[in-house]
Amino acid sequence: MNYKNKASKACDFPPKVRKEIATRDMNRCVYCGSKFGLQVAHVFVPRSKGGLGVKENGALMCSYGNNCHGKYDNGLDEEHEPIKEYVQSYMRKLYDINVHDLVYKKYAGFKFGN
Ligand SMILES: [Zn+2]
Repeated sequence: MNYKNKASKACDFPPKVRKEIATRDMNRCVYCGSKFGLQVAHVFVPRSKGGLGVKENGALMCSYGNNCHGKYDNGLDEEHEPIKEYVQSYMRKLYDINVHDLVYKKYAGFKFGN
């Protein structure tokens, strides 16, 4: 497995983690409460920056209707700022978040051991 695949895999939410997140978030979009088009979104560190697929970095968001997930990732500032504030504070109440722990280390340029 090459480096790119490893990084990409580390940034995916595995089925088990998706399930944990869906249960934790009660199968609703954490922002608007919608039950439709739910996806697990990277909350603190986006996938494009090596954000890990772990429950501390993932929350359920809708991709239809309000499309909170789309706005979160790609929206204008005035669209995603309130969502970010809400979702990140929700997550910080659940976990002791250290953003540096949520980055795929090799991707971020750190080196471990040898
Ligand atoms: Zn939503």
